[in-house]
Amino acid sequence: MEFREQVPLAPYTTFSIGGPARWFADAASEEDVVEAIRFARQRNLPVFILGGGSNLLVSDEGFPGLVLHIAIRGIEKLESIFRVAGGEDWNNFVSHVVDKSYAGIECLAGIPGTVGGTPVQNVGAYGQEVAETIAEVRVLDLSTMHFEDLTPQACGFAYRQSIFNTTARGRYIVTRVDYKLQKNGAPRIAYADLQKHFASTASGPTLAEVSAAVRNIRQQKGMLIVANDPDCRSAGSFFKNPVISAEHYARIVEWHGGEVPHYPAPEGKIKLPAAWLLDQAGFHKGYTLGRAGISSRHTLALINKGQARAADVLALRDRIIAEVEAKFRIRLEPEPVILGLTI
Ligand SMILES: Cc1cc2nc3c(=O)[nH]c(=O)nc-3n(C[C@H](O)[C@H](O)[C@H](O)COP(=O)(O)OP(=O)(O)OC[C@H]3O[C@@H](n4cnc5c(N)ncnc54)[C@H](O)[C@@H]3O)c2cc1C
Repeated sequence: MEFREQVPLAPYTTFSIGGPARWFADAASEEDVVEAIRFARQRNLPVFILGGGSNLLVSDEGFPGLVLHIAIRGIEKLESIFRVAGGEDWNNFVSHVVDKSYAGIECLAGIPGTVGGTPVQNVGAYGQEVAETIAEVRVLDLSTMHFEDLTPQACGFAYRQSIFNTTARGRYIVTRVDYKLQKNGAPRIAYADLQKHFASTASGPTLAEVSAAVRNIRQQKGMLIVANDPDCRSAGSFFKNPVISAEHYARIVEWHGGEVPHYPAPEGKIKLPAAWLLDQAGFHKGYTLGRAGISSRHTLALINKGQARAADVLALRDRIIAEVEAKFRIRLEPEPVILGLTI
């Protein structure tokens, strides 16, 4: 296994931003993962696990430890379970199962990143999230150096959340995910954009038609990685949709004096679209601050407008958080992981 020094991280991220990793290695097997952790421990280095770099903003100074890139490949089929290595490309895996008429992740087409990255923030879009179909997550537990198979319950999935990005952050490395999918199952058409797309279709759309429609809608919004499209030089949605109390929501409705878009959330709470809050606070599509900005097609995507540094994106992040908080008493939470800086 090769350990390289001073490797620029920007090319490994969809933001195309970030300084060098002091050490960098590709892990092509579970044995490589163990070897890399030993390498880091012998040198007292912090370790960062890198997938597709699509939910990541790397600091301009880079990372002073070992960046371990999960490059384990392979898809195995065990009846209705697809056993997928952590380094497989997620979007390719979705195409693979849709081609074989398996339902359960068709609405998650076009999301960049690796399979190993999907349980971390319980990836979701267009009415589906991976928590619904994950059967097991294989991990290396860094506290014991043993491999374990975690049940979905043990992963603690919630909206954009799991133990991997909350209570057990930094403890596990995901080497494999088992997905339980339904052969010839019906596609999910729960989301308004998709219902609109298929409104004039007499017979129900196929899985392939639904995933193609999702990719199409994503591309229109600049949320599909397309070469030379500046609107996708991002980490996707930069802010989570905030969940607030019913009383807080009532105060916002009263203040706004009109309809406020919202969705029900667990425990009688209300989820607000972060994009609406940004718009109301004056951050519209195409907004620019220095070399960072907001996508011209999606209010929630902060983008690198060309040669941006992490500092440019963070300045925009801070301005948005401050304005939204001043107006609505809601502190927006960023979705991407920020490496090398405190949030
Ligand atoms: C254009 C665009 C659109 C997007 N749309 C969506 C969307 O619709 N829905 C959505 O949920 N997300 C979306 N995202 C965000 C992103 O694609 C997902 O969060 C994705 O799952 C991140 O996976 P990754 O492999 O790129 O992880 P990375 O960005 O490499 O890492 C993210 C975090 O996961 C950890 N991690 C990654 N792999 C592993 C592993 N094997 N073991 C342990 N920890 C690991 C990293 O340490 C880091 O903390 C979008 C991003 C972009 C750029």
